[in-house]
Amino acid sequence: MTVEKIFERDAYAQRCDAVVVSAGSDGIALDRTVFYAMGGGQPGDQGVLRQADGDDIEIIDTRKGDGPGDILHIPAEGAALPAVGAKLVAEIDWQRRHRLMRIHTCLHLLCSLVDWPVTGGQISDGRGRLDFDVAEVNFDKASLTAGLNRLIGENHPVASRWISDQELNDQPDLVRTMSVRPPSGQGRVRLLDIDGVDLQACGGTHVAATGEIGPVEVVKIENKGRRNRRVVVAFAQA
Ligand SMILES: [Zn+2]
Repeated sequence: MTVEKIFERDAYAQRCDAVVVSAGSDGIALDRTVFYAMGGGQPGDQGVLRQADGDDIEIIDTRKGDGPGDILHIPAEGAALPAVGAKLVAEIDWQRRHRLMRIHTCLHLLCSLVDWPVTGGQISDGRGRLDFDVAEVNFDKASLTAGLNRLIGENHPVASRWISDQELNDQPDLVRTMSVRPPSGQGRVRLLDIDGVDLQACGGTHVAATGEIGPVEVVKIENKGRRNRRVVVAFAQA
């Protein structure tokens, strides 16, 4: 069965009712979930599965399973597993997820400011990075920081929509990353549209408008090889 991925249509959903489909030491599968599974450079969610008897199961990570679209909620070591068929409430660590959404959306803004192919990216709590396939850079920390904060201040709306795999193949420029392909093979691909700023295939979670990201700072531009410049962005220190 296909798990209903509530985070794909509503990144702000913090909890949902769900039924346990399978439970093992490698993870717990539900019929629907608000937990984002690690992918596209974004970490998997953490949180709890709240059972009817009051026992909470701590979830330390969320990963994709073997089947296409499968999502496994990884329990803390030693946690008791729920019974298959049990009803529970799945609830993410929202504070952490919201920080990840803000940084993730900020990386889209960074993409729009740096006109070079992206070879990789990573999001962690409070910071994120993109690697660009470029030998000589014509940007610096101060100019990128100013550009990002301008786009954040302009509060551009962020929206997603679906297109078919075929439509994506017909518009290869919608894929910015050379190494991270968007999730495909399910007949459709999600487009992330920051109005007037950036449009690309992406399966992650984002804030609803760029102003929600808050002030950021480019903290590092690293030389990671002959044609690889790594740009690291973090929330500005208050
Ligand atoms: Zn994205």
